[in-house]
This record gives sequence, structure tokens and C-alpha cells, in this order.
Amino acid sequence: MITDALDRITPHVWQLRFPGGHVYLVALPDGGFAAVDTGLPGSAPAILDALAALGGRPEALRQIVLTHCHMDHMGSAADLVAATGARVLAGALDAPYISGTLPEPPADLPPPPGERALHERTLAGIAAGGVPPLRHTEVDRPLHDGDTLDDRPEPVRVLHVPGHTPGAIALHLPESRLLLPGDAIAADPTGARAVLAAVTPERDWREAGGASTTRSPSRSPNHHPNHGM
Ligand SMILES: [Zn+2]
Repeated sequence: MITDALDRITPHVWQLRFPGGHVYLVALPDGGFAAVDTGLPGSAPAILDALAALGGRPEALRQIVLTHCHMDHMGSAADLVAATGARVLAGALDAPYISGTLPEPPADLPPPPGERALHERTLAGIAAGGVPPLRHTEVDRPLHDGDTLDDRPEPVRVLHVPGHTPGAIALHLPESRLLLPGDAIAADPTGARAVLAAVTPERDWREAGGASTTRSPSRSPNHHPNHGM
């Protein structure tokens, strides 16, 4: 049952859990919905089932916000666009990777070991799942730091969080104290620690910025990483 994997985390936001990157559905005031991320290729039927469980027909999906260009987040965007006509929003610097104009930056795997385990677990899950080939999709609206998303039941602020990918974004819903960080924050396989900017190609940013690679997970604000929680 799809509802077994569907958790309401605020009055307007649901988390749809996948073995890889999770998907969030946001109810819009006009009866429509927005999706935050889309899971691996092949996830569109499960997302549409979740939408139906919330009372939404496919055309009710109006927006797809992609936190970054990795295939476990943008993997089903093209299928969902075809099924629903939704517009795609994503960080401006990741748009060329999502549309396929540029090849995705390679992952860099520096210490700590937990980060490598997280990456390997994600790749193993993808390989075990028999995932269909990735289809790219155009980005209708490139997003920048400080942008706000309109037509939401509460303000949604876009934060540019480069590191995991150049154009990664997080969504902040201050009224709900909710942060959807994409992969800017992940939980390591033990669930005991948060990993910041895991699998980043921008090691200089980490080394120069003083951003520690791990810290204790905080529940304030309410972080909902796509992996591990
Ligand atoms: Zn990622």
C-alpha cells in the first residue's frame, strides 16, 4: 500500500519514502500539489499513486521542484511532466545537468568513511532496483538564492546550498520550521550522525569554508533529508 510509505509531516506536506531519495508532496491552496524531488527513474507511478491517495488527479501536480541534479532526485521528473504537465523548477546552476546539456559532475569521496558508505549504499540500492534509463527534462524556472515560491499555503524560501552539487537548493518553510535540504544534509547509515555536503565535487568549498563534515543531527529546525531519515 502506497499509504504505508506516505507520512504527513506538516498540515500541507507529506513525505513519500523510497529506498533512495525521498519525495515530498505539498498541497497548494487551489487544490493542486507540488512535488519536491521525484525519486529514481521508474518512480512516477508510485508518486501518482501517492497523489491519488491524497485526492489528487495527475493534472493536479502543478510544480516539480528538484533539489539537485542527481538521478535519485530528478530521475522521474520527465515521466511526471509527461503525465501531468507540471512545470519544473530547479537551482539555476544544476539546470544544465537536469536538461542533459552538460554531463553531471563526478562525485568526490573524501573522508569520513561514513560518507563513502552512504554513497555506496545509495548506488547499491539503485543497482538492485533494476532502474530504467534516465530521461532528462527541461527546467522551466531556474531558481536562485532568496527566491520565494508563490501560491503555497505558507512562504517557501529557496536557499542555494552548493557543495553536494553546484546548483543544489534547499527549501525553507519558516512557519512550519521545516527544512527540505535535498542532499545538503544526509543521515549516515547508522542514523546517528548528519553528513553535510556528502559526495561533493566541491571539496575546496568544504576545506575552505570551515563547514564541518559531520555534526549531531538537530531537530530544530525540522530537517527532512532525502536519505536516511
Ligand atoms: Zn544527491
